[in-house]
Amino acid sequence: MAIEQEVLVIGGGLAGATAAIAAARTGADVRLVSAKQPTLRHASGLIDVLGYTPDGEGPLAEPFEHFADLPEGHPYERVGRDAVEAGLAMFDDICGDSYEGKRTDRNALVPTFGGRLKPTARYSASAAEGLASDTRDMLLVGFERLVGFDAPLAAARLNAADPPFEARGVTVEFSADLTAEPKVTRFAHLLDRDESTDAGRPVRSALADRVVAHLDGEARVGFPAVLGDDHPNAVRDELADRLGAAVFEVPMGPPSLPGLRLEDRLYDALDAAGVRIETGNPVMGFAGDDRIESVTVDRNGASVPYAAEQFVLATGGLVGKGIDSDRDGVAEPIFDCHVPHPPDRYDWFDDDAFGDHRFARFGVDPDRDLRPLDASGTPEFENLRAAGSVLGNYDFAAEKSGSGVSLATGVRAGRLAGEHT
Ligand SMILES: Cc1cc2nc3c(=O)[nH]c(=O)nc-3n(C[C@H](O)[C@H](O)[C@H](O)COP(=O)(O)OP(=O)(O)OC[C@H]3O[C@@H](n4cnc5c(N)ncnc54)[C@H](O)[C@@H]3O)c2cc1C
Repeated sequence: MAIEQEVLVIGGGLAGATAAIAAARTGADVRLVSAKQPTLRHASGLIDVLGYTPDGEGPLAEPFEHFADLPEGHPYERVGRDAVEAGLAMFDDICGDSYEGKRTDRNALVPTFGGRLKPTARYSASAAEGLASDTRDMLLVGFERLVGFDAPLAAARLNAADPPFEARGVTVEFSADLTAEPKVTRFAHLLDRDESTDAGRPVRSALADRVVAHLDGEARVGFPAVLGDDHPNAVRDELADRLGAAVFEVPMGPPSLPGLRLEDRLYDALDAAGVRIETGNPVMGFAGDDRIESVTVDRNGASVPYAAEQFVLATGGLVGKGIDSDRDGVAEPIFDCHVPHPPDRYDWFDDDAFGDHRFARFGVDPDRDLRPLDASGTPEFENLRAAGSVLGNYDFAAEKSGSGVSLATGVRAGRLAGEHT
């Protein structure tokens, strides 16, 4: 007997979560099935809409002004500005005061762990005091045993970009009690609980004392994004108090605490919307013809059919295995949706490592209702929609558009799926 629901969303990343919540908000009965952890925990937690044009122009101050010039087939060209605004509105609703950027359509420039300035539409409240539009000088603080953030190097790179402030970087010992390469969550939990680690001193005040010794009039201090998991505001407030300076987090590479915090918020929102969630079980195939009747889910080696009226494919791109490639070609593995790509695989790459690689834009090509199209331009299935990085025709890493596309197409695919039940 098949498990049944009105809408089945496949994939538990930003796109799948957004689609499931949007479908549930139409009143539909929704289930989300996901194989593994999404890319959210690897991402910085920044919500990029469009930081650079597909031609590399940027950083863009006004992302929406460039929508009219996007090439045909780009996900934003397919769903339009309204969908992006609807996706951001849902994101703002879910994240509340924990994210900033909602009062403007302009991009903010946020310093990253590599010392770059990233154009982004939404950023964690913990990063707000670090914006590059702010003229106050900043001290960046790295920790000796935290790999991945070289504060002096990051500061030097920021200064090289000629920002309206001076940055300086120092590296301090966080606590003598840490192992050689502690996880980011270890730092966060020590700070959350304000544990005594240094000669019986609570870790927050011990850290503040070490940093104060380096302050030279800077009005703001940036730490790697490890300042608490459960109580980030309390950690920041206490450090700011003790330092007499504003405190901000610098978004980090994987594994990313802001990404994990965002994942928690999204899964709370899924629960609140009444979505049934199953993780750890991959969807392997489907039954149906022009219309999908059910998909097959591998549950501990048993093939279980899940029937639904509407399906959303949000399985990610080449990173998430929603798109797969081998010597013979590029494919979408569950429904075998058409993935346009040059037949000669030497045409998938550019000779220049930083060049325009075709593979970065591989994905399914949808119509305006986000139904994947076959090679002749006809929807593959009447009741399948796609969202997020399984879609092709955009390079999220070059454009800085990953989360924006996931939100916009997730909301649109989810709403349409819910409305068609
Ligand atoms: C390292 C990294 C850093 C990034 N940094 C940023 C950033 O700073 N800002 C930004 O805006 N964007 C960033 N992005 C991009 C952004 O994270 C993605 O564009 C976006 O979140 C993609 O979401 P998604 O839901 O489409 O896919 P994913 O997050 O990949 O999720 C896909 C989900 O589908 C599941 N799945 C796959 N196959 C199956 C199957 N057969 N059955 C069931 N489930 C399946 C996977 O397990 C996964 O849970 C980054 C991405 C990466 C990889």
